[in-house]
Amino acid sequence: MATEKRIRFTLIELLVVISIIAILASMLLPALRNAREMGKTTVCVNNFKQVGMALYSYAGDSNSFLPITEVGNSGMTENGWGSTLMNTWAQKLAKAGAIKTYAIGESSILVCPSLFPFGKFYSHYYIYGYRYPATEHWRLGNEYNINPWYPKRSPTKTALAGDSGCKYTATSVFGQAYYYMPSCSSGAEPMNGFIHTRHQNKAAFIFADGHAETVGFKQFVPFTDPDSLLINHYYDQNGNWIEL
Ligand SMILES: [Zn+2]
Repeated sequence: MATEKRIRFTLIELLVVISIIAILASMLLPALRNAREMGKTTVCVNNFKQVGMALYSYAGDSNSFLPITEVGNSGMTENGWGSTLMNTWAQKLAKAGAIKTYAIGESSILVCPSLFPFGKFYSHYYIYGYRYPATEHWRLGNEYNINPWYPKRSPTKTALAGDSGCKYTATSVFGQAYYYMPSCSSGAEPMNGFIHTRHQNKAAFIFADGHAETVGFKQFVPFTDPDSLLINHYYDQNGNWIEL
């Protein structure tokens, strides 16, 4: 009589193996997620380096003026063009040839990979947040000012643009990039863009000296300067509205 030799797993053994795999996976997945997030942070910082080069390329061709945040708001018109159409800082960069003109859905240096629209160009409103001091409209040496503004604080600490986020309306859920960040605001949570620390509790910035890096909220204090990026609130990693 032939001996039947078959390897069989009991149900208990099978469950043990499955649970071991589950434990190993649970140990590995956060590491993978961290690695993926670090990759996105690197892409974002590199984007800002390119944005910085575009800003200074623009300034080089514009009597050292950086682009204005937007034209057409607050009754402003675009000098010499006679236009009252809205023009964001990125559109001005594109018009000047400092960056390419993006099509919708195209990968863009203007967009963070970690928040809607996730590294793809969608609209000139859903891009990185550029400076927008509330009291003076945009003053960073733009062509609408007789007296150009220069940072009094060290340019290494003066942010020009960074990771921003906003709510679409005051009551909607947080979750999209926004093309400018206001200087300060009190009272109700605004619909404007604010710094969003989406990169493992840090936000990426391009600074006036041309360097790009991620900064945590504890380092936002240097920005609370009349000549720097004034903020008194920011969005944390989870989109919560936090007072500094
Ligand atoms: Zn980012």
